[in-house]
Amino acid sequence: MNDRTALVTGANKGIGKDIARLLAAEGLTVYVGSRDADRGKRAAEEIGAGTRPLVLDVTDPDGIAEAAAQVERLDVLVNNAGIAPSLAPPTETGAEELRSAYETNVVGVVEVTNAFLPALRRSPRPRIVNVSSGTASLTWSTNPNPQFTPGSGGAAAYRSSKAALNALTVLYAQTLAEEGFKVNALAPGLRATDLTPGAAAVGGDPAEAARGAVHLALLPDDGPTGGFYSWDTTPVP
Ligand code: NDP
Repeated sequence: MNDRTALVTGANKGIGKDIARLLAAEGLTVYVGSRDADRGKRAAEEIGAGTRPLVLDVTDPDGIAEAAAQVERLDVLVNNAGIAPSLAPPTETGAEELRSAYETNVVGVVEVTNAFLPALRRSPRPRIVNVSSGTASLTWSTNPNPQFTPGSGGAAAYRSSKAALNALTVLYAQTLAEEGFKVNALAPGLRATDLTPGAAAVGGDPAEAARGAVHLALLPDDGPTGGFYSWDTTPVP
């Protein structure tokens, strides 16, 4: 099927832009979601053929409805837009910081997903990829994988919001399984983007993470659902 469509939220830069670029290279028509119209238009032009800019602020319910009304059928939804307000531990995290992280990383994903469900249901092979974080793995957080700082309780708002996103990924997968949906979460690994100002020297190429998202976006009918996968397709606990 080569008339497939995809929407990537927060695709004007970073990992999302690479996901949009790779999905367009796979022959999909890609809606490049961006909360800023100019940034979205520029990113779509830079990626080139097969892209369409779509103004989409995941914290704006009216804007989400307007965007959803423009998309008749959707095969792939990548909930990539995300924010990481600070590295503060829970003891130093204020309500405002917690709310803003949850508003974008959790509520935004639910609102966007539900608004685009009618379009996804018109696809014979609907796929949803939630871009999460390995730092949200409660198993890794308590039995640290070498890639994390042992015992660190930092970035509490961000990490707990992504843990909530993982929970929702499982619940969406269970709810939509009989309709043929595959709903999975991705741990992109540390990438040098604007989200991680300190990672310029140690963060990997965002395009490598994007390949993991594309793998989950194009899963075959016998592929997994309700899982949490690293960018290299290995399961994350
Ligand atoms: P960037 O900051 O480079 O990109 C984030 C994108 O999200 C931008 O396009 C940004 O738009 C968009 N965005 C933020 N808030 C909203 C909103 N309310 N509505 C719509 N779009 C919004 O970060 P990354 O590319 O690194 O992050 C992409 C995803 O990957 C995030 O979910 C992040 O949590 C996750 N991730 C990243 C890791 C890393 O090491 N970089 C590691 C683990 C997970 P704008 O330009 O307008 O701000």
